[in-house]
Amino acid sequence: MAERIAGAGQGAARRVALVTGGSRGIGRACAERLARDGFDVGVIYAGNQQAAEGCVRALEGLGARAAAYRCDVADADAVKATVAQVTKDLGPVWALVNSAGITRDGLFARMRDEDFDLVLDVNLKGTFNMVRALARNFMRQRGGRIVNVSSVVGLHGNAGQANYAASKAGVVGLTKSVAAELAGRGVTANAVAPGFIDTDMTEKLPQEVRDAYAARIPLGRLGSADEVAGVVAFLVSDAASYVTGEVIRIDGGLCM
Ligand code: NAP
Repeated sequence: MAERIAGAGQGAARRVALVTGGSRGIGRACAERLARDGFDVGVIYAGNQQAAEGCVRALEGLGARAAAYRCDVADADAVKATVAQVTKDLGPVWALVNSAGITRDGLFARMRDEDFDLVLDVNLKGTFNMVRALARNFMRQRGGRIVNVSSVVGLHGNAGQANYAASKAGVVGLTKSVAAELAGRGVTANAVAPGFIDTDMTEKLPQEVRDAYAARIPLGRLGSADEVAGVVAFLVSDAASYVTGEVIRIDGGLCM
């Protein structure tokens, strides 16, 4: 069962967003941006409780009702229970942002089965688990938004990331299929494909690798999590009501 860090709570009648991986990095920036845009926000995290608690405080500081739920998105039963708890605590989810993700890089010829499976389980199966757990909710309310965080690596591949690329390519196929299935109910599903974004995930790379990437990016620098959150906020907004099944690159021109 999900372990919850609850916020104090504000008024009612705001839309609810649920952000996986919402306690850090891109997910955190999305959670804060959606709180600023008037959403109450539930965030799902894997185990870093300190980051999750800090996130809930920040979201409350922005005027949102907020709660964090410890839940492994790869665990379908835990996801189901967590979604039920979020609905009970905050109300029906209008916007789902799937940002939880991990890497286990290595050359494919030497890649261990467990590193391939784990990345697929979290990044792809986790996204599927979340969307499936909320499918009835979306169909019932005949509206809603799903935004899945893929990667340019899922569109173009990358040496040393066969598992990650496969998971992120899978997220694109999943997103388009879900978009087709839910369009008749007025629900949109889109993906964003960030390039090189400055977060904990990329911070662990050696400085020379980061510099080499930056040199290849036409805009000449890494992106920020807030720059991804801006596009996610658009896809979640009423302004994007006629956009579905789309993949938007946010990569400073890296892959144009
Ligand atoms: P990050 O800073 O490492 O944050 C990862 C977040 O996901 C954390 O909140 C973490 O929770 C959560 N998480 C990890 N495994 C989980 C699991 N099994 N169940 C539930 N939550 C889990 O990562 P990021 O850089 O923001 O990346 C976010 C997403 O963007 C990922 O899907 C990543 O693949 C994608 N992306 C990133 C980049 C980039 O350059 N950074 C580029 C393209 C795509 P804890 O804090 O509890 O561990």
